[in-house]
Amino acid sequence: MITVENYLKHEVVNIHEKIEKPLIYSLKVESQLINYAKQGFPFEVVGFLFGRNNEVTELLPVENLAENKERRFEINPLDYLRAENYAIHHDLELIGIYHSHPDHPAIPSSTDLTFAQEGFSYPIISVQANGEVQINAWQLEEGRFKQQFITIKN
Ligand SMILES: [Zn+2]
Repeated sequence: MITVENYLKHEVVNIHEKIEKPLIYSLKVESQLINYAKQGFPFEVVGFLFGRNNEVTELLPVENLAENKERRFEINPLDYLRAENYAIHHDLELIGIYHSHPDHPAIPSSTDLTFAQEGFSYPIISVQANGEVQINAWQLEEGRFKQQFITIKN
């Protein structure tokens, strides 16, 4: 049994503070995230979040180029460019990057910290072999992740 405590690294996650503004999305966006994570199982899936004012309205799944896809994700630099262009052309903001943690809790890893950038939201979709799913969102602040609560809006 995997417990959250085993995975909570205090140099990665600041558990004492939360992000002030929630990440907002609809039930439809939530079920898309869950479907992508389940379809990709047992590999990590990854993609971009677009919207405005912390509200995600669109997702763009991209290919995970990592060699060890069970435990890592890696985004093609060209996909970053495409995402930035997509945001500009659709008058949207690039809000962040989602990825899944197959058989692992929805808690960021040391690797996630290495590649994170401030101002982005990082929802992590934990998906277990038995179909159990949990989503937590995070943002980088002062060198560590803080949890960002999620508001489901319809
Ligand atoms: Zn991760």
